[in-house]
Amino acid sequence: MIKNPISTDIDLERDGVHHGHLKLPYSRDDSAWGSVLIPLAVVRNGTGPTALLTGGNHGDEYEGPIALLDLARNLDPKAVTGRVIILPMMNYPAVRAGRRTSPIDGGNLNRLFPGRPGGSTSEKIADYVTQSLLPLADIVVDIHSGGKTLSFLPFAACHHLPDHPELEARCTAAMLAFCAPYAVKLLEIDDQGMFDTVAETAGKTFVTTELGGGGTTTVQTLSIAKRGLRNVLRHAGILSGDLEAAPSQMLDVPDDRYFITARHNGMVEFLVDLGTEVKAGDLLARIYDLDATGRPPAEYHAACDGLVTGRHYPGLVQSGDTLALLAAVLDEQNL
Ligand code: CA
Repeated sequence: MIKNPISTDIDLERDGVHHGHLKLPYSRDDSAWGSVLIPLAVVRNGTGPTALLTGGNHGDEYEGPIALLDLARNLDPKAVTGRVIILPMMNYPAVRAGRRTSPIDGGNLNRLFPGRPGGSTSEKIADYVTQSLLPLADIVVDIHSGGKTLSFLPFAACHHLPDHPELEARCTAAMLAFCAPYAVKLLEIDDQGMFDTVAETAGKTFVTTELGGGGTTTVQTLSIAKRGLRNVLRHAGILSGDLEAAPSQMLDVPDDRYFITARHNGMVEFLVDLGTEVKAGDLLARIYDLDATGRPPAEYHAACDGLVTGRHYPGLVQSGDTLALLAAVLDEQNL
């Protein structure tokens, strides 16, 4: 059996606050016996549940890393019952490069789980998280945002898990405890290789988010991330006290009609902003041909009623890009 070469200088079983690294050997031209040092923190106080909090799964999404770096500095171990494992920049080479994927191996970490111990650097990270950190956790929060190419209404999310109603109920409760402005029950178009799927398959309570996007943060999205992380720790019984409540608007993405895919290359004009409610048939966007005047733009209409929850962010769009995400507006009883 191949052993994962990643090691850590932190004892995850010791009480107190510990800041250290995962050390991933990476031999290369500018560092023959070099390693990638991935920052890791643990805050532990006695026995109790363990939360695994991750960001930087994609390297151009910043609410997770910033809120988790803040939490690692400011979480008082005396206030903790159990353990909080904080991995703010999971795909560290991608975070360093400000890219979705790793510059070392092109790895899109959230498509490589459960990873391979003898694989590429990104695959080794995925394998270490799956084999060494995930089994310790009772609850997992993986903070995502839109990155450079997407922008979202700020939402916490969990998945439709029709074969596992008890797990879906646990994940839904944790998603609502996050208290983002929106809470989305999501159908993943392609769930293979995702951290989400690996965590859910292991029976872990799992919450993810999409908080803003465009490759930066706002005051609002960062405050949502910081509040949400502490709320989930309260929900898990790791921090005491009541949730800092801010009720979420419930949304549902039950099938792929809610994803609008661009089928043209060009320049995009959105006719609706994030947060607009649209009806089936409403005009959402036009894509203009860059090559000439006088040509009608391609028009994109909503296939169903819903709230505009996500959109392509840059001004230029390519065929195959997700142009927009709609979500059905629900009341809590239907979630
Ligand atoms: Ca992401």
